[in-house]
Amino acid sequence: MKRITIIVPCYNEQEALPFFYKEITRVAEEMSECEFEFVFVNDGSKDSTLDILRDLSKKDERVRYISFSRNFGKESAMYAGLETSSGDYVAIMDADMQDPPDLLPEMYKAITKEGYDCAATRRTTRQGEPPIRSFFARCFYKLVNKMTSVEIVDGARDFRLMTRQMVDSVLSMSERNRFSKGIFSWVGYKTKWLEYVNRERVAGETKWNFWKLFLYSIEGIVAFTTAPLALASVVGFILFLAACVYGLFIIIKTLIWGDPVTGFPTLACLVVFIGGIQLLVMGIMGQYLAKAYLETKNRPIYIVKETEKDNK
Ligand code: UDP
Ligand code: MG
Repeated sequence: MKRITIIVPCYNEQEALPFFYKEITRVAEEMSECEFEFVFVNDGSKDSTLDILRDLSKKDERVRYISFSRNFGKESAMYAGLETSSGDYVAIMDADMQDPPDLLPEMYKAITKEGYDCAATRRTTRQGEPPIRSFFARCFYKLVNKMTSVEIVDGARDFRLMTRQMVDSVLSMSERNRFSKGIFSWVGYKTKWLEYVNRERVAGETKWNFWKLFLYSIEGIVAFTTAPLALASVVGFILFLAACVYGLFIIIKTLIWGDPVTGFPTLACLVVFIGGIQLLVMGIMGQYLAKAYLETKNRPIYIVKETEKDNK
């Protein structure tokens, strides 16, 4: 009998968890040809998420949980779940039911019958999301796909079912600056994309705000492309050419009409312009340096405080 592990990162999900558990056990019953394991990762929740997980793991032996010592973020939670999972197939799902459990049988079929290594999901609409957020999200995907060689699919969710082989490949990428959408694509393998219409959370609130998403998008860019580093060379070269042309222009102008001393505004503009570009480029280099610094510290990706074994 094949085993499927379902990984569920949870951060303050006390309202959503009961719904989720009910749904996922229903789907598990439908897929009676498989054995299930549920790995809930409590990412330092401040509500009673952990108590709910303790209860569930007592009642249902398929339920396991890992509880972090503090909030480490969804990326760390997913990594912890993948490390803990023991299934032949592994799925990652949100606790808020935005990832419909009903897709699981179809995903399973894609891998076992149709020869795919992974079945991933993307939502076709962003309905229910603030328009300004959708706009920036679209811009981000366009930009990042121009700059990187890995494909980062617009609307892709973290909800996916993978083979053990693919999970091991993902785990072998033990970088601390984790951007899963890029990592899943970078490891390769044959992926089937299933589409569905966006759903709203059953309960609770989204953990993302605009600023967090913005920082996350920079993580994504820094993690998967060094193209911004080339900006300094490109802009520098363009400015050099412009300076040559302008210099020539001044020489000719002086030879023909003499040289009355003017041009202070031009000078002021140029100083600010060049200064701005220099700071921008230094900032970009700083980003990469900071990431390199954080990687070399080699800190753990997460710290576990309690698991279901401590609760027996
Ligand atoms: N999550 C987490 N740690 C965090 C933030 C979120 O484990 O620091 C979990 C959260 O509990 C949920 C999933 O990640 O199961 C997706 O979060 P959310 O629904 O807030 O994101 P959205 O669906 O709005 O992108
Ligand atoms: Mg959600």
